[in-house]
Amino acid sequence: MLFENGENMTSEKIIMHIDMDSFFASVEIRDNPDLRDKPVVVCSKTFHLHKDTSRGVISAASYPARKFGLHSAMPLSEAKKLCPDVICLPMNKNLYKQVSDNAVKIIQKYVKTVQQVSIDEAYVLLKDDVKTYEEAAECARKIKSEIAAAERITCTVGIAPNKSVAKIASGYQKPDGLTVVRPEEVLGFLSPLPVTKIPGVGKKTAETFDLLGIQTIGDLAKADKRQIYEKIGRSGMAFQDIANGIDSSQVMETADAKSISRFYSLNPYTNDLTVVKMGAESICEEVHEILIQKKMFFKTITVGIRYADFTTVTKSKSHTVHTSDIFFLKRHAQDMIDELAANNANKKIKQINIGVSNLKKTDVSQMQLTDFF
Ligand SMILES: [Mg+2]
Repeated sequence: MLFENGENMTSEKIIMHIDMDSFFASVEIRDNPDLRDKPVVVCSKTFHLHKDTSRGVISAASYPARKFGLHSAMPLSEAKKLCPDVICLPMNKNLYKQVSDNAVKIIQKYVKTVQQVSIDEAYVLLKDDVKTYEEAAECARKIKSEIAAAERITCTVGIAPNKSVAKIASGYQKPDGLTVVRPEEVLGFLSPLPVTKIPGVGKKTAETFDLLGIQTIGDLAKADKRQIYEKIGRSGMAFQDIANGIDSSQVMETADAKSISRFYSLNPYTNDLTVVKMGAESICEEVHEILIQKKMFFKTITVGIRYADFTTVTKSKSHTVHTSDIFFLKRHAQDMIDELAANNANKKIKQINIGVSNLKKTDVSQMQLTDFF
């Protein structure tokens, strides 16, 4: 066992886990600075449609809200009891997606492989020339500061020899944290933490562990294998491996994208829509090029405008048929820019984002002449 540990821990792989801090709530607070320091939660749309507190469930809670014990997956009715002054905002998925895409694009510049596991979380494999933990930490600092500068939100990074430890490390100091766990530090780092810190160990499993006298990851590392297997089964064995610093799962490039988007930064910022639309045209071409490479058709176009004051407006339009026609894409994107900008004619624009989604694979015979422009 010890030998196995030692072997795993001398592996040279360095893995990073990046987690945006209370993501949805952070984006909302960024765009509405008055909400800073207030207990803010983002809730599913249902609540706002029905205005019925028995229906809403929290999707994200700001740090001040967490101080009241509010957390994601908590019913709003319970949240209101704990914190009567809670401010509940509706989900703005398009906006979060746009911020997430931008963050991933920044991360991609610095690393070799990005495995996005959710809208606000990714595992990362560093470039081959990053050989030490110091260099990895330096890379993390660059990613953190570029995301903070571009999106004005913070993220927390964990760096470790494997995925589980990297994820546990990123949860260790939040928000805006960076935790580095070198191979020789893994067991010492994990040992005092509660077993619930292991990804996948929920309330139920923790209760079973508790019955076996296991509270910390260190307890689990030393526990009797057979007993764990009997009570928890194969997943119990996997949790025990993680407790011993063993996790050979790989960082995989995120599978087929569900959307393709590109952004364009205006420099200098401008409210001249002719200039903005020229930028839009060039990113439509980039999006189209990727569609052709991937042999994809789209049905939905999303356009986002980010203003110099960091407020953002987005709009999505779904069409009746799938297409990859570039003229169609450009024309609709430009119309949508006009519609979005109409209410803010004097505000300077900082960035535009154009994306397509609702994608469908196609074969070459279905393509149209305009697909090849
Ligand atoms: Mg997060």
